[in-house]
Amino acid sequence: MKELILVKYAPEIFLKGLNRGKFERKLRDNIGKKLEGIQAEFIHDSGRYFIRTEEIEESIKRISKVFGVLEVCRVREVEIDFNSIKEVALEKAKSATGKTFKIITNRANKKFELNSMEVSQKVGAYVLTNFEGDISVDVKKPDILINIEIRNNYAYVWSTQDATKAVAGLPYGMNGSTMLMLSGGIDSPVAGYLMAKRGVEVSCVYYHSHPYTSERAKDKVKDLAKILAQYTEKINLYIVPFTDIQMEIINKCREDELTIIMRRFMMRIACALADKYGINSVSTGESIGQVASQTMDGLVVSDDCSDRPAFRPLIAMDKTDIMEIARKIGTYETSILPYEDCCTIFVPKHPKTNPKLDAIRKEEEKLDIDELVKKSIENIEVVTF
Ligand code: ATP
Ligand code: MG
Repeated sequence: MKELILVKYAPEIFLKGLNRGKFERKLRDNIGKKLEGIQAEFIHDSGRYFIRTEEIEESIKRISKVFGVLEVCRVREVEIDFNSIKEVALEKAKSATGKTFKIITNRANKKFELNSMEVSQKVGAYVLTNFEGDISVDVKKPDILINIEIRNNYAYVWSTQDATKAVAGLPYGMNGSTMLMLSGGIDSPVAGYLMAKRGVEVSCVYYHSHPYTSERAKDKVKDLAKILAQYTEKINLYIVPFTDIQMEIINKCREDELTIIMRRFMMRIACALADKYGINSVSTGESIGQVASQTMDGLVVSDDCSDRPAFRPLIAMDKTDIMEIARKIGTYETSILPYEDCCTIFVPKHPKTNPKLDAIRKEEEKLDIDELVKKSIENIEVVTF
């Protein structure tokens, strides 16, 4: 029995016109990288890939996390012969669970003696007659969908049960790069995932307030970066010492402006790092109205410190929807571990929700901004996952 993997890619890739080839090649490269250490032969076949390998299970697990892949199916390779095809279809119906089925045929090989409608009808009739038990055809909402593809050298047969839904999106690395501000919370890993899903290469920066934030808080952020890296390529995490800056703000600035001034420093440092490493943009996990610093005024005032696009992919999302994605991508359980973060330690009693740019700039004149930024960047720790 010969089995192989069929990789279907996200329909968006088909809409890329003259650039489609570039996207397809990138996707193939990215799948190849994810299959490192596994022997696999790729067969490019009009808008999809077939992959021949001995390690089907493990390969499917990895490929289903490659952006740009819509679905990964374990398919049976069958000789181009109607009797063989119908036997395999019957087997598929028997091994699946459900009371109704439907056959879908796609005939790329126009030399095959039956057209796709005829194949579906005849195989359907054969399954109905030979299935031991209770089964009927339902063309609208079948429990079991059996796919038959007749191509030039072989036919392929698989059922719904053989298909694994993948992450979709666009191939990683096709759309520039971003410096993600990664905290230990629920939101920022989801923001990073969503950027990566659109093909944007992600690097991460974490502001660490030793000794106010513990090693465990830092390890939690590393764990989150590691989970994100399952979907991307290698991710660099830049760990920035942030305590001196926070102390300086606390000592010199108004209490109700601490948070917003701190956020402006985060933005400046993220941009400076992005500049140093040739990264196009920055991203955060902010969502409008979620907390006191995420008001429109707050966002305007922190954007003032950014010299490149600052993306906030969660801006219009509700917390429950963000949490749902966090669960799906596997970051939620780590994010909810109860370690303090640098923002919760230095929270003013009454943070300003409507900061005004001029007033904040004026307040910051008390600080040696360039020197503070420079010093924290000099003492960065870099970890790669
Ligand atoms: P998250 O769940 O991502 O921590 P949050 O709801 O706790 O977000 P804030 O604490 O206001 O919100 O942080 C907003 C955004 O600022 C975060 O999503 C993240 O992008 C960035 N951020 C906050 N703290 C840090 C930090 N210590 N290091 C890096 N980025 C941070
Ligand atoms: Mg947070």
